[in-house]
Amino acid sequence: MVNIVVAGGAGRMGRMLIREVAAAEGVALSAVLVRPGHDWVGRDAGAAMGGADLGVTVTDDAVEAFATAQAVIDFTTPEATVDYAGLAAQARAVHVIGTTGFAPEDLQKLSAAARHAPIVRAGNMSLGVNLLTQLVRQVAAALDEDYDIEVVEAHHNRKVDAPSGTALMLGEAAAAGRGVALHDVSDRGRDGMTGARRRGAIGFSAIRGGDIIGEHDVVFAGPGERVILRHKADDRGIFARGAVKAALWGQTQPPGEYDMIDVLGLR
Ligand code: NAP
Repeated sequence: MVNIVVAGGAGRMGRMLIREVAAAEGVALSAVLVRPGHDWVGRDAGAAMGGADLGVTVTDDAVEAFATAQAVIDFTTPEATVDYAGLAAQARAVHVIGTTGFAPEDLQKLSAAARHAPIVRAGNMSLGVNLLTQLVRQVAAALDEDYDIEVVEAHHNRKVDAPSGTALMLGEAAAAGRGVALHDVSDRGRDGMTGARRRGAIGFSAIRGGDIIGEHDVVFAGPGERVILRHKADDRGIFARGAVKAALWGQTQPPGEYDMIDVLGLR
């Protein structure tokens, strides 16, 4: 039995993960961790979500929670995730990171933590999107720069970062297919007199509204035709199931940084 801590348990993904971990085979929900001082602290996690008791008390003490865990599943904020990466590494627990919106210096801290225990991090934990990244890479390699690449994403009105982690994964895949670095060709936040589109650029645009879980189109707009590769998430359960799979997969891996392409064996 793999003991799993769900960090950020009170969030949209956290609630989904509590249900998923409590119900999945081969894993046990050992703790639910929330922001320090959150009003769920000390309550049963199931009751706090408005359901039946799960026999797990919500805590804000990460050190104590991680001490008995083999994995931490973390969909919180970049600041919290960087802190938890250090603590999970000390506890030698697999850290599964769904959080998005990291700055380059955050990523360096995650890499340092991954020297002591496995970290699995992906901007999208679903099978469908990870398959899509492979397809985008292939299509980008097959079509030349006559085909303009645009990544268009839509999310709910509470999302705080843009482009989404998934849009960036898809942009990275397109850039890899073209044999270029995304930061050299990325075109973000067009506004005003932008001038004509740069040949070879990979553009990003974001829609924010309502309760959209996540939609991503990668558009290859060429002379006289368009190829559009699309993923639509209808249920956050796809991310939670991927995260649990990653926590189990990580148990047999040496320390290092991994993503869902590794977990799903798609590399
Ligand atoms: P959310 O509803 O805002 O949940 C985030 C939770 O983290 C909130 O409950 C927040 O608590 C909590 N939190 C903040 N600081 C914390 C700390 N120090 N310790 C413990 N918990 C803390 O957001 P969400 O929609 O669940 O998304 C969370 C993250 O996952 C985002 O970065 C999102 O982009 C990403 N995401 C990734 C995937 C994927 O497949 N990789 C899928 C969906 C979402 P308070 O609100 O009380 O501050």
